[in-house]
Amino acid sequence: MKLLNHFAQSLPALSSLCLPAPTAQPDWAYFNDTLGQTLGIERSPHTLSALSGQSLFEGSQPIAMAYSGHQFGHFNPNLGDGRAHLLGEIETPDGLIDLALKGSGQTPYSRAGDGRATLGPMLREVLISEHLHALGIPSTRALAVVTTGQAVARQFGPEPGAILARTAASHIRIGSFEHLAARGQLDELQQLFDYTCARHYPGIRHPMELLQAVCTRQAKLIAQWMSVGFIHGVMNTDNMTLSGESIDFGPCAFMDAYDPKQVFSSIDRGGRYAYQNQPSIAQWNLTRLAECLVALEPESRRDTIIEQAKTLLANFMVNYQAEFEGLMAAKLGLNPLSASILEDWLNLLEQQGVDWTQAHAYLPDAERWLALFKEPEPAQQWRTTWLAMSPDLASMARINPWIVARNHQVEGALQAAQEGDVAPFKRVLSALQTPFQPPGDLNDWGPGSPGFAAGFRTYCGT
Ligand code: AMP
Ligand code: MG
Repeated sequence: MKLLNHFAQSLPALSSLCLPAPTAQPDWAYFNDTLGQTLGIERSPHTLSALSGQSLFEGSQPIAMAYSGHQFGHFNPNLGDGRAHLLGEIETPDGLIDLALKGSGQTPYSRAGDGRATLGPMLREVLISEHLHALGIPSTRALAVVTTGQAVARQFGPEPGAILARTAASHIRIGSFEHLAARGQLDELQQLFDYTCARHYPGIRHPMELLQAVCTRQAKLIAQWMSVGFIHGVMNTDNMTLSGESIDFGPCAFMDAYDPKQVFSSIDRGGRYAYQNQPSIAQWNLTRLAECLVALEPESRRDTIIEQAKTLLANFMVNYQAEFEGLMAAKLGLNPLSASILEDWLNLLEQQGVDWTQAHAYLPDAERWLALFKEPEPAQQWRTTWLAMSPDLASMARINPWIVARNHQVEGALQAAQEGDVAPFKRVLSALQTPFQPPGDLNDWGPGSPGFAAGFRTYCGT
C-alpha cells in the first residue's frame, strides 16, 4: 500500500508538514479487518508502527490541516488539526480515501492542547462510526485504535493514551473554506473549490452548483440522523464535511425516549445542538459555506448570486423535510405517508416519552408495542388508523433497527476496556455492526435504567 499526498500537494495553504509523535510502547486495541482488507492494509507490525508514529507508510508525508470554524456560533479563525495528522490518501476504485490519525501528538495548531487522545473516547469513535456505517449512514470509518503505553492527563486523572486511525472520503470541512475566506486568500479559496469539486462532485463548475450539491447531501444526512435519533452534539462548522459524511464523534449519543429537546453534551448548555435543532443548525452552517462561495463570484454579479444562495438555503429545509418524511414513511411502512398520521405519531411518542427505537422496531407486534405506552388508549387509537393504511411490514423491517448505540451499553463497554477487559467492547461492537438483527435479549438493548439516563452526559473527550 502506497499513500498519495494529493491534498497536501494541491492545497499547501491548508497543509503544514508535521510528523506524528513517536509513542513509547504501541499495541493494538482494535483493528478493523474488513475495512483493512478493502484498503489493502493488514494488521502487521509494520502497520502498527506506521499508525503509532514509529515509521511512515510508503509515500506518506504527514500533515496537519489548517481550518477555522464557528464553534457554538462564534467564529474561531485559528482551529486546525491540534491532535490529528493526515498521513495521506489511498487510491481506491471509489476514489481517494484519507488515512488520518487522531491523538498522534502536537502540531502547529495544538495551542495549549497536548495533542493526545485517550482510549475510551477513541474506542467510542469506533463504536459510533462503525454503527452509523452499519445503519447505512455516511460516516468516516475507524480502521484501528492503538494504545500508546503513555498515560495522558485528563480532568478525572491519568488515562491510557491511544491513537485512532480513521478513514474519510476527505477531511474537507466548511471550516476549511472559512479559513481561506476569512484571510482573503481568494486564489487559494478557488483552489479549494476546484479540489473539492474534482474529488467529490465531478462535473460541477460553479460555486452555487457546489452549494446546491452539498445542501442535497447534508439534507439527506441530517434526515438519516434524525430518523435513528442520533444527536451529533457538536455541529460546529469545522465538524461538517463537504463530502456529506458524519465526522467527529465526541459528545454524540442516541436518544432513548423521543424528546425533541434532548441534549447529551455537557458543554451544550443552551441546547444549541439539541435533537430538534439539527436541521436548522445544518442550514446555519451551510449559510457560512455559502458566504465563502459567494466570495468566488465576480463583484458585478454579487447581488444575483446572493439571491441564488438564499434560494438554495431555503430549499435545504424543504429538501430536508422531504427526506425526513420519506424515511418516516418507510419506518411506518406507509406509502404515501399522510402528514396527520406522522404528526399524531410524533405527538404520541413525545407525550408518553416512548423510546424512539423500540416504538418503531416493535410496531409489528401489537402486544409488545402497546406495553411501551403508559396510557395504551391513545396508542391503540393511533394503531387502528395506521393498520387501516395497510403498512408494509417488510419495508419496515429493513429500515427500523433493533439496536442503536445505547448509552449504558457504550459506557459499560468503554469502562471495561479502560480497565483492561475488551470482551464487552467486542460484544457491543458486533451488535452495533448488525443493528437490523434482533438481539438475543431485547432488554439488553433497551434504554438504560432511569437513574442512569438521568445522570448521563457526554464529554468532548479532549
Ligand atoms: P473537536 O471539538 O474535536 O472538533 O476539536 C476542536 C479543536 O480542538 C480542533 O482544532 C482540535 O484539533 C483541537 N483539539 C481537541 N483536542 C485537542 C488536544 N488534546 N490537543 C490539541 N488540540 C486539540
Ligand atoms: Mg473536529
